[in-house]
Amino acid sequence: MDSQRPDEIRARYRSLVDGGADEGDWAYAWRSEINRGGFKAVDLLMREIVDQGKCVGCAACVTVCPTDVFDYVDEVPKDTRHEACVHCVLCADVCPSLRPPDPDASDVIGLRAPVRDDGYGPYNYEFLARSVKNDMVKATQDGGFTTELLIHLLRTGDIQGAVLGDTYEDNPQQGFHKLATTPEDVMSCVGSRYTYSPNTVALNEAMQKDVKPIAVVGVPCQVNGVRQQQHSSIRMEINRWYRSNVSLVIGLYCSEAFTFESVSSIAEDYKVPLSDIENINIKGKVIVRFKGGKEEVLSLKDYQRYARPACLYCQDYAGDQADIGVGGIGLMDWTYVVVRTEAGHRATQSLLQTGLIETMEVPEKAKKLLARLSKQKANKPRPAQLPSLAERIESGDLDPKNFQGKGAA
Ligand SMILES: Cc1cc2nc3c(=O)[nH]c(=O)nc-3n(C[C@H](O)[C@H](O)[C@H](O)COP(=O)(O)OP(=O)(O)OC[C@H]3O[C@@H](n4cnc5c(N)ncnc54)[C@H](O)[C@@H]3O)c2cc1C
Ligand code: SF4
Ligand code: SF4
Repeated sequence: MDSQRPDEIRARYRSLVDGGADEGDWAYAWRSEINRGGFKAVDLLMREIVDQGKCVGCAACVTVCPTDVFDYVDEVPKDTRHEACVHCVLCADVCPSLRPPDPDASDVIGLRAPVRDDGYGPYNYEFLARSVKNDMVKATQDGGFTTELLIHLLRTGDIQGAVLGDTYEDNPQQGFHKLATTPEDVMSCVGSRYTYSPNTVALNEAMQKDVKPIAVVGVPCQVNGVRQQQHSSIRMEINRWYRSNVSLVIGLYCSEAFTFESVSSIAEDYKVPLSDIENINIKGKVIVRFKGGKEEVLSLKDYQRYARPACLYCQDYAGDQADIGVGGIGLMDWTYVVVRTEAGHRATQSLLQTGLIETMEVPEKAKKLLARLSKQKANKPRPAQLPSLAERIESGDLDPKNFQGKGAA
């Protein structure tokens, strides 16, 4: 292989970005190379995204690669089996950091009409929801809509599994991917970890075991990775499987995730083992619940220093491409549910008919906050237009939310 080729392609990509080309055209820098050969998209992906610290960790490249080139290590792909690459270009095509979603993305996900847009992605209707069971509300993060929905769909047989995030017993704030196939599995994943949980890594297991149809729960970067896998114009068996068998995508609203130091600092400050930190909830402040029920409230402003730097390269707050968006958005014990697609509508109505969920109208204040936070993220420049992680470290400007550089939110 010509070792100059990846640099050539990368230079063409940069010239499209810097020359102000329409962002939809950026992908032509590598897509047009497919038939010329001698070019491994993995090289572009590693140099332009991963080596620049611009990888958000969604694992889309990892789980879509037909020849298993990547391992997933420390929240980024590692091209361990580089020589296995078959030049298919899928890894570059599905990366939400390398290119924005296709302009017709909202057409292909099956939006339910009439489509409304109030600034947090296209949707059909919205409501607040919570489980009617007190113990479920207590166990879950914000009312338990997500968990009730997954358990219900497993029981009806509408799904056979769900790609979620579970936690370690000795470290409940650190997530790992899990393919849940029973209500008990779903229950072991309840609650939110504000560290990064690579849920979508479990897609490979679902495909290998042919567990289908499946639901995916993820933060918006993961939702976008899944959608780009499903709807890539590069058609291979692997992404066809995702298109046919991922039947429901639930997106968690997300300002940012936090590094693991955020949790270990709490354990150190309160002199407790990590296993004692039972739950963290962020509601304009950081509410930490310890084993035994004791709660402490920390300042979100102070906690912000632990924000995950990679989250700067993300523009989606509300999971705009999900079937259903869910979040807490400042409300205790209620899930703010936004139903976007026909698939989301069918699943939601099926759950509501059971009487397991009570609902309430969304207060105007919560709606406005969701729109404001979504717009703040959406208005940032694209990852390609932002400085690399190394440049940000040098300038000391690491907080993704309060980034002061070019085009600060
Ligand atoms: C990193 C992160 C940031 C968030 N930021 C916001 C925010 O800014 N504003 C807001 O309104 N809501 C935010 N949320 C969403 C919120 O915390 C709840 O997940 C959501 O309201 C659903 O509540 P629930 O009671 O229905 O969830 P539950 O029924 O408790 O189910 C939660 C599901 O989330 C999955 N999960 C847990 N941790 C993670 C993780 N780290 N990554 C991916 N999946 C995970 C679990 O697998 C579980 O299935 C965030 C969530 C995460 C994980
Ligand atoms: S953002 Fe996702 S698809 Fe892109 S390099 Fe990182 S893990 Fe891979
Ligand atoms: S802000 Fe949330 S959705 Fe975006 S990259 Fe970070 S964890 Fe992913």
